[in-house]
Amino acid sequence: MSAPNRTTPFSLSKLNDARELVLVSCAYCKREHAYYPTDLMQLFGDVDVDSLAAQMTCESVRGGHGFLRVQRIFSGSREMVGKKIRRLVSIKFRRIPVWREE
Ligand SMILES: [Zn+2]
Repeated sequence: MSAPNRTTPFSLSKLNDARELVLVSCAYCKREHAYYPTDLMQLFGDVDVDSLAAQMTCESVRGGHGFLRVQRIFSGSREMVGKKIRRLVSIKFRRIPVWREE
């Protein structure tokens, strides 16, 4: 086993196999959410965990607070005791009208 580093992609499916969760936090407003990798895979595909930092946004304000901190955390770890995990309920698609002049 090599030491983890930023250049090695670590996909969400690998995280799931390792029973790890994704901990996403905003440094600005200290919001923090733990997600199941499988829930995030439904939204982003089986992507590299680090790439989520650029794809997810803080929901506190419109437009977010810039890059979020994304970490892997073992689901059975001490830090997760008593912590809630955010589950994906549904994915809503916005209806965008496309017009044509005739
Ligand atoms: Zn924030």
